[in-house]
Amino acid sequence: MSVNAVRGRGANGRPRGEGQWALGHREPLNPNERSKKDDNPLNVRARIENIYARGGFDSIDPADLRGRFRWFGLYTQRRPGIDGGRTAVLEPEELDDRYFMLRIRSDGGQLSLEQLRTIASIAKRFARDTADVTDRQNIQLHWIEIENVPTIWQELEAVGLSTTEACGDTPRVILGSPIAGVAESEVIDPTEAITEINQRFVGDPELSNLPRKFKTSISWLADTPYEANDVSFVGVIHPEHGPGFDLWVGGGLSTNPMLAQRLGVWVPLHEVPEVWHGVIRVFRDYGYRRLRARARLKFLVADWGVDQFRQILQNEYLGRPLIDGPAPELPEKPVDHVGVHKQWDGRYYVGAAPIAGRSSGTQLAGVADLAEAHGSARIRLTPYQKILILDVEQDRTESLVEGLQKIGLEARPSAWRRSTMACTGIEFCKLAIVETKARAADLIAHLEKTVAHLDADISIHLNGCPNACARTQVADIGLKGMLVRDESGDMVEGFQIHLGGGLGMAAGQTAGFGRKLRGLKTTAADLPDYVERITNHYLAGRESGE
Ligand code: SF4
Repeated sequence: MSVNAVRGRGANGRPRGEGQWALGHREPLNPNERSKKDDNPLNVRARIENIYARGGFDSIDPADLRGRFRWFGLYTQRRPGIDGGRTAVLEPEELDDRYFMLRIRSDGGQLSLEQLRTIASIAKRFARDTADVTDRQNIQLHWIEIENVPTIWQELEAVGLSTTEACGDTPRVILGSPIAGVAESEVIDPTEAITEINQRFVGDPELSNLPRKFKTSISWLADTPYEANDVSFVGVIHPEHGPGFDLWVGGGLSTNPMLAQRLGVWVPLHEVPEVWHGVIRVFRDYGYRRLRARARLKFLVADWGVDQFRQILQNEYLGRPLIDGPAPELPEKPVDHVGVHKQWDGRYYVGAAPIAGRSSGTQLAGVADLAEAHGSARIRLTPYQKILILDVEQDRTESLVEGLQKIGLEARPSAWRRSTMACTGIEFCKLAIVETKARAADLIAHLEKTVAHLDADISIHLNGCPNACARTQVADIGLKGMLVRDESGDMVEGFQIHLGGGLGMAAGQTAGFGRKLRGLKTTAADLPDYVERITNHYLAGRESGE
């Protein structure tokens, strides 16, 4: 199919001007596009090392500070003391603290003990002992000073870690199954594809100016939120060709949430990097660049439809047809791997829950010590903010569970702790309207007392704003931070409630978004009582087997 057949043309047949490069729109249509065109954001690394780290915070060019720094995982944190009501009305510089959040990539969520210890040491020395496990299998540090960034990079890179393209309009960290390579039911471990994509394409200047972020998931088991990624490869067995991967495109939450759609093709493992490279270039060239709110791949897929997307991918990027493929078998609900589980080799892995992803350098160092003492050299992070220790002999698992508990990690958490996630929130995030992590901890503590013996999985995802970093729309109880009126009529922190969402193919083989019940809001102060009430209501009214 030719470019002329692409939608995005007006009634006169001329391109409508979504800023798509492939339609000839190379002139930037907004300040973000201008900044990326003026200077490849990857170039900012040299300035950080040679100028800003020496000159200090005040020497940083604002265009780098609020734009290009992201290409190396750096965001300024929110200045303390600014309430959520002022998030939208203040200028960016009024929200900026002089400290940074630093996101460290761990593609597939895989870390060695040496890598984990390095992160822990950096967290303790340079990040006030902060270390959050994110729902994209990264670790984020806070309170980073620009003067220390080159040293941090040196230490990370010495053990094979990086912050390159951890943020920005780039190929972000690749999600993978936390139990890739050890899962009893896995047919192909796709780690080699994740590694190849990371090595060949992360930091590639040809892919460093995408219309927006580009999220990937590659997993045999559908135990990542594959429907919420721009591109996903999910394991499937083709009746003639054998095991390979089913390709999905166009997922993304935030505002205008959309689930990824199957292209209906089967991709063998060795072709995954090539096909991924084709999809990301379709996005780079045809993605919308006029409005950032419409720039994610999901909007292009929604406008084109999957048939047209497949045709363009095949004809213009791969130069060959893809093989038609069957749909994969999908789990009924998301799997978080918490607890003690057997591996295919007879050993065990232990999955433990911090509280809503909050950890610390001290705790991560403790995890590394415990793992080593129990014969393990491999750690995994999950997209549900959990930490796994692999390769433990059966007779050592109880000792490990007890050791983890002593450092604040529960391998047998309450149902509430297990299924509650939270984004960064107002503590550090400049876009936040409300606090999330501390509220999640309070909420869990309340529910553990008041609804102690919950025998159902009820996922709760707290988000500090509409951006849905902790996947508001796909939780049983999704919480979107906003200001609401309390009983006295004052504007206070609160949440809009989305009920009944879910990823995975539960409920009639269709994943769905939570129903956003108009007017259904709670103040943050009332949140624990609110969740307690609707849980009790659900438990009283549920049908047998529900
Ligand atoms: Fe920040 Fe909003 Fe994302 Fe939370 S959902 S981390 S508040 S942008």
